[in-house]
Amino acid sequence: MAKTPKYVYFFGKGKAEGTAEMKGLLGGKGANLAEMTNIGLPVPPGFTISTELCTYFYKHGKTYPKSLTKDVETALAKVEKAMGAKFGDAKNPLLVSVRSGARASMPGMMDTVLNLGLNNVTLEGLIKKTNNERFVYDSYRRFVQMYGDVVLGLKPVHKDDIDPFEAIIEQKKKEREVHFDTELTADDLKDLVVRFKHAVKEHTGSDFPEDPMDQLWGAIGAVFGSWMNDRAIAYRELYDIPASWGTAVNVQTMVFGNMGEDSGTGVGFTRDPATGENIFYGEYLMNAQGEDVVAGIRTPLPISRMAEQNARIYAHLEKIRKTLEQHYHEMMDIEFTIQQGTLYMLQCRVGKRTAFAEIKIAVDMAQDKLISDEEALLRIQPDQLNQLLRPIFDLKEKEAAVKSGRLLAKGLNAGPGAATGRVVFNAHDAEAWAKRGEHVILTRIETSPEDIRGMSAAEGILTARGGMTSHAALVARQMGKVCVAGCDALDIDYNSHTMRVSGKEIKEGDWISVDGSTGEVISGKVNTRPSEVLQVLVDKTLDPKDAPVYQEFEKIMKWADKYRRLKIRTNADQPDQAANAVAFGAQGIGLCRTEHMFFGEGKIGPMREMILADAVEERKAALARLLPLQRKDFEGIFEAMNGRPVTIRTIDPPLHEFLPHEEAAQRELAQQMGITYEKVKQRVDSLHEFNPMLGFRGCRLGVVYPEITEMQSRAIFEAAAEVKKRGIPVEPEVMIPLVGNVIELQNQEQIVRSVAEEVMKEQGVKFPYLVGTMIEIPRGAITADEIARVAEFFSFGTNDLTQTTLGVSRDDAGRFLIPYVEKDIYAKDPFEVIDRTGVGALMKIAVEKGRSVRPGLKLGICGEHGGDPSSIEFCHMIGLNYVSCSPFRVPIARLAAARAALTHDGAAGKRAGSKHAKRSSKKKTARKR
Ligand code: ADP
Ligand code: MG
Ligand code: MG
Repeated sequence: MAKTPKYVYFFGKGKAEGTAEMKGLLGGKGANLAEMTNIGLPVPPGFTISTELCTYFYKHGKTYPKSLTKDVETALAKVEKAMGAKFGDAKNPLLVSVRSGARASMPGMMDTVLNLGLNNVTLEGLIKKTNNERFVYDSYRRFVQMYGDVVLGLKPVHKDDIDPFEAIIEQKKKEREVHFDTELTADDLKDLVVRFKHAVKEHTGSDFPEDPMDQLWGAIGAVFGSWMNDRAIAYRELYDIPASWGTAVNVQTMVFGNMGEDSGTGVGFTRDPATGENIFYGEYLMNAQGEDVVAGIRTPLPISRMAEQNARIYAHLEKIRKTLEQHYHEMMDIEFTIQQGTLYMLQCRVGKRTAFAEIKIAVDMAQDKLISDEEALLRIQPDQLNQLLRPIFDLKEKEAAVKSGRLLAKGLNAGPGAATGRVVFNAHDAEAWAKRGEHVILTRIETSPEDIRGMSAAEGILTARGGMTSHAALVARQMGKVCVAGCDALDIDYNSHTMRVSGKEIKEGDWISVDGSTGEVISGKVNTRPSEVLQVLVDKTLDPKDAPVYQEFEKIMKWADKYRRLKIRTNADQPDQAANAVAFGAQGIGLCRTEHMFFGEGKIGPMREMILADAVEERKAALARLLPLQRKDFEGIFEAMNGRPVTIRTIDPPLHEFLPHEEAAQRELAQQMGITYEKVKQRVDSLHEFNPMLGFRGCRLGVVYPEITEMQSRAIFEAAAEVKKRGIPVEPEVMIPLVGNVIELQNQEQIVRSVAEEVMKEQGVKFPYLVGTMIEIPRGAITADEIARVAEFFSFGTNDLTQTTLGVSRDDAGRFLIPYVEKDIYAKDPFEVIDRTGVGALMKIAVEKGRSVRPGLKLGICGEHGGDPSSIEFCHMIGLNYVSCSPFRVPIARLAAARAALTHDGAAGKRAGSKHAKRSSKKKTARKR
């Protein structure tokens, strides 16, 4: 017979059966309660029913295994023993909380029930024991309310509907003419309980359960049942959480923050979750229980106040903060409760934070040797670096706006960055407006999980209620959104789509600006300015010494460069772009698209003439006029790159892309060229292609019109010679696009090499150069061994390679791409993230075949994927030498490349990697033919 698995895990009195590693089994909350117990923190004893039981529950028609009753009773007895109290006891009753807890935190799940175990009997016992009638009735009314809401289903489905219990409380407060719950007396609360129970009876037709065991099983069942409720399912879908994970249930001894002014409850972070600063960050309320802190009923106090009001507890919290960080090596998010001067820990987990904070915390922790620099790199998601590059408000403009009275209010700085947009008051509008291309600020009294899509569509989020731990703040941090939360000066009216703030009325559609770094809300637009990193590196208007954010950035880049094996190049066709990329750390140009140059100053005219030429001689004449112009472009680029390799692709797009298609423009061109309009029109029409992507483009142009390749090669090499003569080293790499057949490449290569020889002779200088190809059609990849006999380098053109491998035109894929991703036919948009199994397999073949005939073959990627972290990881895995991406993604690529090396090369791999790097730099001139 199969042994029944262990379903129930005890924690308490310094020892737990679980550990932090057991999140899959115990859920996040249960695993960390166990861990905190084991490291000696004051955790009220309890037990966790594992997620395996949830799985069992749904596998067996929502029933429990027979053994569970006994296991729960045994665990409960252990808790009773630890506490010296008894569940349901008339004299010394034990009360517990029942808390859900999945592997990942899930707002869709059942809410916690506190004070469970209270009934008319235990109530009396507790009053006698504590001599505090008000506290006991406060606990009881909370229990009946929570149990009624979440277990008995009285909680309204729509969040805008009023909770029946809250309505009763409001009524009572009105009758008693008081403002706060805390002003209600024991008798008031007693009366509330009666009215609550009445509401329960009315709603469910049954009496509120009196037997503590019934209460307990009811709550346990509600937790497991909530795993499959609509909200939980919707949340799992949105965040890709598998239904098979299941939830755990935690049953834990109650500690009471509502026992008077020497009691309280709070939440905190071991560092500031918005800025990452190494300070204790939190909020608390005295004489309060559970979610009072985050519910916005009373405004919580900042934790710094506790240092003044209760130094002893504060010191204890500080000590725990250190212990937690030393133990977890992470910034933690904690819940605590103080019961009559004694501190208890109720939850800890790794804290959510902004990308700013993530980066600062990782860097600080690595510097303090709390973690290694490798670990720091692995913690920072490459895309998070975007946040350091994101715009901030122009300080002068903001100051001027504030001075002129446009500062509306100040809230909490919950999500740093600057956002300007038009006000909308619900998530639906935010989505709809953003779809139309509007920039919007989603403005809500508070947000809830239903608002997630709207939050994601907005530039910024602004809420009237809620603290740093409110839903809006948490989600904004996760999404990297600008957010100002808890701005209670806002008086929002959803019905009229307006809000009043500091005597002004703001209507839907009005512009406002929110500063998520300071909490300021300003009316009208405020222009933004480049980030510190850009000001230091690109604009060179800021001294690094005055730029703390830049300094962090610099450290990360230094560490990344230590570990990465991939080189990072950039896609750039202009000297200024190239210079920016170098400032960001680019080590070369991986793709210079010459066709972009043809649209520059004075070039499009001769270009068009060249295309429309009837005869070779005419074409050559036009090309001769293009030559000096193009040479000048290349000189600028070589100079900016100062000896770094520059890969220049010969002309690639179909020619009609350069021609005017409107009649007026065609007439103008005819006049310029001194030919008839009809002739121009007829020539343009004749260049029309049904499927230009698969048409007369790439090396096919150069094969049919060799004089184009000749001119372009000449421009490249004359520029190289000129720059070299000025004492600047050059390293041109001429790249032939769209090669599928080695003979095509040979044909072009001969032209390139003979021009190179000629130019060197004419100019009397020598310079190194390479001739290579793009691998961007399947035949090129499959015959890579043949191609590598000619090509000195390959650069994967993964945009075209994806189109041709999948047989999908990127420009026409819009209609089905999203449904395909939704239906998991494509895991991700294959134009964003390399399709490893398909396109990636072709790349692997090309790498292996290419290196089999030319071991020193230089391999890179220049498709859009070169800036995507997952694709970069793949490029590392298949052994490319470099990736090339747009200038602004260079820092992201540096980090992604380091993470790939750290993830995939062990210590041995790292050594091999550096050897490999040496070899490839030595081989540069090897030209095996
Ligand atoms: P969530 O998953 O929504 O954070 P929790 O289970 O953490 O829900 O509980 C909600 C609130 O109740 C929190 O403020 C928590 O600290 C408090 N709480 C939970 N269990 C206890 C307990 N045993 N004693 C006192 N407060 C508790
Ligand atoms: Mg909690
Ligand atoms: Mg291409």
